[in-house]
Amino acid sequence: MLGKSVRMNDEKQEEKDNFETEILDFNKPDFEFKPKEYHEWRQRGPYLVCTSCEIEHATYIGNNKLMIGLNDKGQPILKARGSTSK
Ligand SMILES: [Zn+2]
Repeated sequence: MLGKSVRMNDEKQEEKDNFETEILDFNKPDFEFKPKEYHEWRQRGPYLVCTSCEIEHATYIGNNKLMIGLNDKGQPILKARGSTSK
């Protein structure tokens, strides 16, 4: 009985040792994001969010702009919010 409980403690200790911590250094990211040429932008509040790339990324456009569509290159066409001119 005693031998069994000792082994259990050892196993617990091992678990603790295997627990790895990681400190992220954003100056040297191990994941390098290379944007594609084409982005599928969706407006989310003051942001344009691209949902077609490997990772979601966003561009801040502010609250006064509204995305009305994309041109043939997939670039967002912005319109000033509240503006009557086209
Ligand atoms: Zn993108």
